[in-house]
Amino acid sequence: MRRIALFLAVVCLGLAPAAAAPRLLLIPLKGGLYVAEDYFYARENSVVYVGPDHVTVVGATWTPGTAALLAAEVRKITDKPVTEVIDTNHDLDRAGGNAYFKSIGAKIVSTERTRALLQKEGEDSVKQTKALFPDYPDIPIVLPDTVFAGDFTLQDGAVRGFYLGPSHKPDDIFVWFPEEKVLYGGCILKPQLGNMDGADLAEYPKTLQKLKDLNLGISLIVAGHYSAVHGPDLIDRMIAMLAQYKK
Ligand SMILES: [Zn+2]
Repeated sequence: MRRIALFLAVVCLGLAPAAAAPRLLLIPLKGGLYVAEDYFYARENSVVYVGPDHVTVVGATWTPGTAALLAAEVRKITDKPVTEVIDTNHDLDRAGGNAYFKSIGAKIVSTERTRALLQKEGEDSVKQTKALFPDYPDIPIVLPDTVFAGDFTLQDGAVRGFYLGPSHKPDDIFVWFPEEKVLYGGCILKPQLGNMDGADLAEYPKTLQKLKDLNLGISLIVAGHYSAVHGPDLIDRMIAMLAQYKK
């Protein structure tokens, strides 16, 4: 009886668990581009590019489980297969889902720098992430199998990965979508500084200045954490936050 009363109290107070909100959303952005908002662990945003005959995922998401959720969302918008996923750095929010993508036959793409750091630090990263997020699973570290010495293009030039120097980590790359004029900033560009462990404080602003000097004509930036979609002014905002952080 007391349990029924408690149940009624909970329902009347509106505290009953509502239908769980989806924790991974795929939202159309522009052209063939979609933003994946992944609310597991620390919110991260990845990007999906639907090309003429296959799909490129930018950011493998946190775990094989979140990667499977993302792949299920991709299947709702296209029949084209996911054939490649880019790890934009060696952190688990970008590389944790590699095992799933490999299991569906996708290539795991990165720079040599990212592959080497994931090989060296991946197992420790799992332990550190579990310390922060106790529900983070014991994931297998799967290394990139399609590795570039420097900058690279996919989807016949419609997806361009490039490196401008150390920033949030030694290896973070940007991904540029020239047709849509959209830049994926990954862990480098975001509306708050976030985790600065491993950031290169001297080089980070220089890397962002190099990005500005490219004059890409950016229309939108997708930030890798916090709110996803921003204007090109996000670069200056990040430079200003870094200058404050040093003081
Ligand atoms: Zn990150």
